[in-house]
Amino acid sequence: MKTTLTTCPYCGTGCNLYLLSDDSGRLNGVEPAGNHSVSRGQLCLKGWNAHAFVEHPERLKAPLVRKDGKLQPVDWQTALDLIDEKLGGIAANHGPDSLMFLSSAKVSNEENYLLMKLARAGYGTNNIDHCARLCHSSTVTALVETLGSGAMTNSLSCFEETELIFVIGSNTTEQHPLIGSRILQAVQRGAELIVADSRKIRLSRHADLHLRQQNGSDVALLCGMMRQILQEGLEDRDFIELRTENFAALQASLEPFTPEYVSGITGLMPKQIIEAARLFANADKAMIVYAMGITQHSHGVDNVRAISNLALLTGNLGRPGSGINPLRGQNNVQGACDMGALPDVYSGYQRVAEPRIREKFSRAWGVSLPETPGLMSTHAIEAAAAGKLRGMLILGENPLISDANQTQVQQALETLDFLAVIDIFPTETAQLADVILPAACYAEKEGSFTSTERRIQRGRKALEPPGSAQADWQIICELLQRRGLKADYPGPAEIMTEIATLTPSYGGISYPRLATDGLQWPCPDSEHSGTPILHRDRCTRGKGRFSPVVYRPPAELPDADYPLLLNTGRTGVHWHSGSMTRRSHLLDREERCAFVEINPEDASKDRIIERQQVNISSRRGTIRCAARITDKVPTGQIFIPFHFAEGAANVLTNNALDPESGIPEFKVCAVRIAPC
Ligand code: SF4
Repeated sequence: MKTTLTTCPYCGTGCNLYLLSDDSGRLNGVEPAGNHSVSRGQLCLKGWNAHAFVEHPERLKAPLVRKDGKLQPVDWQTALDLIDEKLGGIAANHGPDSLMFLSSAKVSNEENYLLMKLARAGYGTNNIDHCARLCHSSTVTALVETLGSGAMTNSLSCFEETELIFVIGSNTTEQHPLIGSRILQAVQRGAELIVADSRKIRLSRHADLHLRQQNGSDVALLCGMMRQILQEGLEDRDFIELRTENFAALQASLEPFTPEYVSGITGLMPKQIIEAARLFANADKAMIVYAMGITQHSHGVDNVRAISNLALLTGNLGRPGSGINPLRGQNNVQGACDMGALPDVYSGYQRVAEPRIREKFSRAWGVSLPETPGLMSTHAIEAAAAGKLRGMLILGENPLISDANQTQVQQALETLDFLAVIDIFPTETAQLADVILPAACYAEKEGSFTSTERRIQRGRKALEPPGSAQADWQIICELLQRRGLKADYPGPAEIMTEIATLTPSYGGISYPRLATDGLQWPCPDSEHSGTPILHRDRCTRGKGRFSPVVYRPPAELPDADYPLLLNTGRTGVHWHSGSMTRRSHLLDREERCAFVEINPEDASKDRIIERQQVNISSRRGTIRCAARITDKVPTGQIFIPFHFAEGAANVLTNNALDPESGIPEFKVCAVRIAPC
């Protein structure tokens, strides 16, 4: 049996595992990496099944081109030439900004870097984005503004020394199971735990305080806590004076958020808000952990600003056991952002609008580069629906299932003159494409991935890809060469060398240095040993900035026609649009069908019984799935996981966007439910 050490392809925790393959080159299973500093010899259910989809019979094995309405196999040259001809033709006739490139948080750093190079240097557009738009774009916008860096400030090892963990909007044991288990271990050790989540989740069973605030009321809750902290003099005065600015503005903005006012918005009792404030502020070292329950709102950026304000107010920054800890979803969503698969920045968050930076990349790539920031992916869908965007290349994403308001997304993709998709499976989005290119999956290629704690780690090749499938980096190099750009990299290690020369925070990264546990950025030079904790003596921007916020309700709340609030999320066994986990036999067996959680009181009102098929409708569409009656959800709310194409939660969700980050409001919309 051959063992190949690699990085788990699922969540952003960054566990390492060994892929086990036999002499015939087939994968037989996985084993945890005992000495790895993140996984420490453990894996979650998804990690243990990370091999299971790799050799699935539905893997794409040859390029496909649509002829007479049907996708038919062709050779690579034909497919690549067609993509180059069509995208080039659209750019020539309608301008480069009539194209959109969607990169992926599932592919490697090197592949994200190359795709943003293809968009900018190859086609002359900054229209490049990826699915961080749908998960942590609010984090990047807010934390860059308040701290100067949009990433998790601390490391996973900090759970071992913290005194209190405040989990808000993260079902950690389901989405990031091994981080969830670190939180539970911290509680066992004696750390206090506050959970703010309208649902009963596994962590809430172990919490000292469970706050079941109304979905969409987090700004009010956080501001109420901060007002109470100030009222009782529990703030960290030294930290505020030495390390922050704009405190007076914050203080003034908090005035309206009395416990009674906050109670009216959140549905919590005033004494719960006071208790949360005291618990949090009295801990010497407190970590705030959050995820998409915070970011996926039409006021997601304000939610993150409020979290940042709370950390600064209590001096919980730049020290072990503290910090602002946004848990990144996919295994390389941090890396895709770092590599500049975003419309306004090159790799390392260097702004495209800054002439000095643009000149640097222009010199390195040998072409002049566009200066206007491009479209966010959510705006690109709107532009496509309006006929303003004509061509799209999608790398390893499935927006038809993962974006809000599926009907609009489908119409937008169908309106395009040309759609090319690079993927490992014929996903729902790929079915709409004019050309599909078959890609190697994580187990069939080399590359690096950056985890939620900014840890850059190697992915390694264990077996050959199926049929004629190729690694994404090889495919993008072919497209770069067709645009007249030099792209003769021998492999991802050499692509990383180019990244390191252009990206200060990755300046010291090279493959030999990533051999074991990887390195945490910023790692500016080859002597630097990485940075486990950001903002130690000063914030990246200098002083931490208090950024006052006002409470804004969600864009759509329940009413007489649609009386229930829909909340969406993940389950522990499936991953995103399910293209990998639903093709993994054991995971699929665990959770096979779309379902909706409904409170017993609401179920009885609507005469719904356990496992009954129900129709759920919003202003955007209707889906059907099985009812699960449970008090995990409060009355007035239902919960649907978004993994299931046949009962797609995103048919229902609202594509109202945060005005700054462009993230849709996945977590709140109004629906009604009826037995079938
Ligand atoms: Fe993979 Fe995340 Fe599970 Fe670790 S916690 S094994 S990275 S899915």
